[in-house]
Amino acid sequence: MSDCIFCKIFKGEIPSTRVYEDAKVIGFKDLHPQAKTHLLFIHKNHTSNFNDLAKTDPQGMSELMSAVAKYTEESGLSQAGYRIVTNIGPSAGQSVFHTHLHILSSAKLGMFGE
Ligand code: AMP
Ligand code: ZN
Repeated sequence: MSDCIFCKIFKGEIPSTRVYEDAKVIGFKDLHPQAKTHLLFIHKNHTSNFNDLAKTDPQGMSELMSAVAKYTEESGLSQAGYRIVTNIGPSAGQSVFHTHLHILSSAKLGMFGE
């Protein structure tokens, strides 16, 4: 989608600090971190939210989840402990309408943040 900021990020039209990339998925640092480690993982196929992704692109859903598992295993985040959050709809706090998973990790995460 041409006016989507996360599509622009994976195309390199908006800068980001990437931590992961494969043919289908990228991971990059959140601009306004809410925890010591705060990353965003997105699939390169544009969908608007988690439910849209699950319904229209189940293979993409699997690729996104597998990329998170691979990255967190290789980076040590899975051993440290981390949380996946995805907001669906404005009232849940979704502000970017390209499906993304927040990856959050701190020494001790509270229930709703750091
Ligand atoms: P959400 O509110 O769940 O839609 O999450 C959107 C996230 O994208 C927020 O945590 C923002 O800080 C983050 N964000 C917005 N623009 C950028 C950007 N250009 N680079 C990295 N993260 C961004
Ligand atoms: Zn997009």
